Amino acid sequence: MAQVAGNLQRIHNGVRRYAITPRIPAGFVQPAMLQKIINVANELHATLKITGSQRIMITNLKAEDVDKAWAMLGMEPAYMNSNRVRSVKICPGTTFCKRAKQDSVKLGMQLEKKYISKEMPSKMKMGVAGCTNSCTESITKDIGVIGTVSGWQVYAGGSAGAHPRFGDLIAEVTTEKEVLDLVDRMVTFYKENAHIERMGEFIDRIGLAAFKEAVLGDDYVANAADEEVAQEPEVKLPGQGNDGIGTENGATRVQAGDPITENSLIRDIIEAYPNTIPTFQSIGMGCLGCPSSTMEPLWQAAQIHGVDVNELVSKLEDVRKGA
Ligand code: SF4
Repeated sequence: MAQVAGNLQRIHNGVRRYAITPRIPAGFVQPAMLQKIINVANELHATLKITGSQRIMITNLKAEDVDKAWAMLGMEPAYMNSNRVRSVKICPGTTFCKRAKQDSVKLGMQLEKKYISKEMPSKMKMGVAGCTNSCTESITKDIGVIGTVSGWQVYAGGSAGAHPRFGDLIAEVTTEKEVLDLVDRMVTFYKENAHIERMGEFIDRIGLAAFKEAVLGDDYVANAADEEVAQEPEVKLPGQGNDGIGTENGATRVQAGDPITENSLIRDIIEAYPNTIPTFQSIGMGCLGCPSSTMEPLWQAAQIHGVDVNELVSKLEDVRKGA
């Protein structure tokens, strides 16, 4: 069984605590599974937290209890760290919900089984809803699917959090197989052509028309909405640089050839020096495709991960200089 170390939580007075999150496809949890989670919480004095991804996080664990917790659970982790498919949120659909128009559980489970923890250029979330109420917030997922009376709407490029973006409607199709085929083409195209960037950033960079043309092939028919998005003028906010990236939290920009300092913006470091990525991962910073974490200066990431910023700068400088 695949296992992952615990995820470091906020450090209080130098004391480190960890969280683990077992895999619970679609959020359907059987009583026996729930009992195991309760047993872990009771025996290891952990706290349980219901997450937004239909899971139960077991947090406040001591480092020495992480392996024991996994052994007691006998469950898979929800996802592997770093840039991978993190979640497939699935609504009850025609299995349970009176409003459902499509079987979101059947389709969602197929997507979950096929893609969960699969490596991607950045983190990826999916959502599958059985009707346009979209209780899974599918339009804010990197890949979102919504059931309608006549079939399915397939969206790409949604995200929430610090950089919210509504997904773009890529196509309306009739069958589950058409959804699965289209998702497969979108994922393949994204994996082969994206930098370290979320699906929405990728679409914004290449243009919606180009994305749809690539994934729909002969079925692609250009429309005004595609062109509008592709040519949307960049809106700059106060404190943003020429590329729209903010530097208001004390971060300084870095280009290839520049030294790395404690104030260097992480996103710039990994773009200018991609060979530093393993060094970031070695301090537990597996979320390098997450815009919020890479928009931090180095000192802030060091603080969050409980490492000495001077040591981290020194290690990164060694990598940069090829030492
Ligand atoms: S999205 Fe529709 S089908 Fe799914 S739970 Fe919500 S109301 Fe029910």
